[in-house]
Amino acid sequence: MEPFEHLRHKPPTAIERPRELIIVCAPLRSNVNLSNMLRTAGCCGISRVVACGNPSIHKSIARDGAEQVQLEVHRTLEPVLKELKAEGYPLIGLEQTTGAHNLHTYSFPRKAALVLGNERTGLTEDQLRWMDACVEIPVYGLPFSYNVATSAALAMYEYCRQYPQG
Ligand code: SAH
Repeated sequence: MEPFEHLRHKPPTAIERPRELIIVCAPLRSNVNLSNMLRTAGCCGISRVVACGNPSIHKSIARDGAEQVQLEVHRTLEPVLKELKAEGYPLIGLEQTTGAHNLHTYSFPRKAALVLGNERTGLTEDQLRWMDACVEIPVYGLPFSYNVATSAALAMYEYCRQYPQG
């Protein structure tokens, strides 16, 4: 058998239509987390990420995600949620809540906004009120919740698995 050869910059998988998943973040503590999410969004073919507050991107972490993905910055989260809802995006909170769907069995709408919470507080009650659905990722041990960028990556992965053609 031929040895495996590492292919740098292997061409991406083509998608047939632009993705209609938007990643929306509550104000985050860490620009590292946001930058990490931009890289994942870029690789997943997701073109819009909304952040709140006053973030700055670590180019060394986001890599080409920083150019590939349109980063929209708003002061606070709730006006963004209102706007996206008016644009017909169901709001899917990625959070551990009562009544949350399990990521393993949840069918994402193709057009959706995936909303991530703050590292410390998660999605607040006020923010959760806006959600059309919540989805949680099963946790099997301490510390009982994932890092926010890791959660976003797991959910983006699952979304792409459900919509491999875009
Ligand atoms: N609830 C956490 C704090 C938030 S973790 C705690 O008790 O410490 C930061 C964000 O990551 C959350 O708001 C959510 O968007 C996401 N997250 C973390 N673990 C998750 C899980 N198991 N399921 C869904 N989202 C999760």
